Amino acid sequence: MSAAENEPFSYQNDELYCEGVPLAKIAGEVGTPVYVYSRTELERAYKAFDAALEGIPHKVCYAVKACSSLGILAALVELGAGADIVSAGELFRWQKAGGDPAKVVFSGVGKTESEMVAALAAGIAAFNVESAEELAALDRVARARGTKARVSLRVNPDVDPQTHPYISTGLKQNKFGVAMAEARPLLREAARLEGIEVIGVDFHIGSQLTKTSPFTDAIARLVKLVEDLHADGIEIDHVDIGGGLGIDYGKGDAAPPSPADYGAAVCDALAPLAKLGVTLVTEPGRVIVGAAGALLTRVLYRKRNEAKHFTIVDAAMNDLMRPALYSSYHPIRPVRDPNRPTIPTDVVGPVCETGDFLARDRELPELAQGELVWVGAAGAYGSVMASNYNTRPRAPEVLVKGDRYTVIRARETLEQMIAGERIA
Ligand SMILES: *Cc1c(COP(=O)(O)O)cnc(C)c1O
Repeated sequence: MSAAENEPFSYQNDELYCEGVPLAKIAGEVGTPVYVYSRTELERAYKAFDAALEGIPHKVCYAVKACSSLGILAALVELGAGADIVSAGELFRWQKAGGDPAKVVFSGVGKTESEMVAALAAGIAAFNVESAEELAALDRVARARGTKARVSLRVNPDVDPQTHPYISTGLKQNKFGVAMAEARPLLREAARLEGIEVIGVDFHIGSQLTKTSPFTDAIARLVKLVEDLHADGIEIDHVDIGGGLGIDYGKGDAAPPSPADYGAAVCDALAPLAKLGVTLVTEPGRVIVGAAGALLTRVLYRKRNEAKHFTIVDAAMNDLMRPALYSSYHPIRPVRDPNRPTIPTDVVGPVCETGDFLARDRELPELAQGELVWVGAAGAYGSVMASNYNTRPRAPEVLVKGDRYTVIRARETLEQMIAGERIA
């Protein structure tokens, strides 16, 4: 990593900073482990994504599940973002952060009736409906309230996103959406329901995609569906192509397409629909927050056995689950003095699981006890997946802007962890 001025995390005199704030200062004042986000990078990523789609009328609905702290959501609200939510809890967060419910689309295969009621009351833009039974339930809920639910039908385009199996969602063996062949008859039926207003079709084929072809293949299928529906007299106002654009985790693999390349490919693929006046909706998560965030941790102990060297740090799988869950790679650097001779080491946490690792067989400078370590590209699916496993309080979150920072979420206390528990 170079000291490039536009990098959210960069070395100045061999010391790692987030924007203008030394990470050691944050660790000293807030403690470790701690999530640190660069607001400037968040803004840069959002604007780059938005600008990449300027060739087409569009809305960017940030996927709240990628990183849902109020401080992060408020920054995106300020930039004009909408939201893609997957629960009533995320709708609550979005509104608490000042977000406009009229810019919300609601995804997910298992929306409950009470979640439908909350979203209808808030006046969200669209329900991304994923099954015939969900459609029937939503129709019932809307009619009971004397209203209509705006609906987009999520289709499963059956394309291989060529990503990790756990984050691939657009194959026919996945639980998401309805089969392409079922979509047309179901939408014709939906158009006749009193509690439903059909406005769109959508897909989300997976996450951490590193090519544009799965997107453009899926869009081609969606275009055909919209044209067929048009012929049936069903006007589609919006097509939603989900999220999924990958980021560079620094492993040295081929870099994912830039937002500009993605935007150009998407606009091209959607060109046949321009005459129908549709609006494009996108639901990016990772590409907006991924690179903006890092997990800062401190070395507790080192040890070596016959097979390996271990670096034991104070962050664990309960803080950052991606390595354990998906065998994900995150870049790791010492906060000071990065240019030392390296050794191969496993960076592991204190949790009692062999799966509790942040990196395996990683070449790193031999880290001393008490040294600070930066785990990069942790802004997306990092803090949101944190748990209290091993009764570890969830880490705080800090948002940096220039040479100042704000604790946007305090470290959880022991009392907060057991609040709500009772001895029978
Ligand atoms: C997770 C998810 C997203 C965001 O995916 P990213 O890979 O983070 O861009 C968008 N839409 C839906 C329906 C999702 O489930």
